[in-house]
Amino acid sequence: MHFLHTLFQHLLPTACIVCSRHQTQMLCHACFAFLENQSLFHYPCCIRCGVDLDDRNTEQNQCKACLLHAPAFDRTHCLDRYDGVLQNAMHLLKYQRRLAIADALAFAWNRLALPHLNTSESAVLLPVPLSTQKLNFRGFNQSWEIARRIQLPPSFQPVANALRRHHSDANQVQHNRLDRQTALRHAFYIHPEALAKIRNKSIVVFDDVMTTGSTLQEIATLLKDNGARSVVNWVVLRTLRPQTRIHSKDL
Ligand SMILES: [Zn+2]
Ligand SMILES: [Zn+2]
Repeated sequence: MHFLHTLFQHLLPTACIVCSRHQTQMLCHACFAFLENQSLFHYPCCIRCGVDLDDRNTEQNQCKACLLHAPAFDRTHCLDRYDGVLQNAMHLLKYQRRLAIADALAFAWNRLALPHLNTSESAVLLPVPLSTQKLNFRGFNQSWEIARRIQLPPSFQPVANALRRHHSDANQVQHNRLDRQTALRHAFYIHPEALAKIRNKSIVVFDDVMTTGSTLQEIATLLKDNGARSVVNWVVLRTLRPQTRIHSKDL
């Protein structure tokens, strides 16, 4: 099977998820190099929430908001900007159900993010869940589909269904920030059989997109309330301050 897979990779052209040019990789060399150069791991970002820091805002490597009110999570690591070159690919994965794109996003994570992350200690990796209704509609959880393709050491244990999400009829995209925070209160719970996997453990929460951080705050609060020793967020795309946004037209 491996031989056939390799053969097909060379015979069948595929479209790069960033520039759409046909070649043999889902992320072409030029786009990979651009992404590598722009990765948020090269920029000063708040160690707590991942937002970019400006010159006035670098005390203890944390942003003012985190210094003022420490979030429940301990660290946040993000690969790229929300409105960077991967945004369209993420939309295709989520809204047009192009599941193969999860392979390319995981490839980017493995090559560009993983070398910067501490994976030497054991941890439990949990994807941010969708509600059952949304999962049935989409057919998959994009965060899990990327997370399960990450090349983790054996000390890391990915668990798909420990975190659960209550159904909400409200469409969160249409909510303003205050509404969103209200709607997110008690939106998540831990499956009773998974509680033992949380207690006294280091937890990594994997999310496809982080905007206000309220979802991850809610999850980290829940995990800590249930005995998690630490909570670190791994995020593919992060909304940053407007002035540092780089658009795909810069390619
Ligand atoms: Zn490309
Ligand atoms: Zn912060």
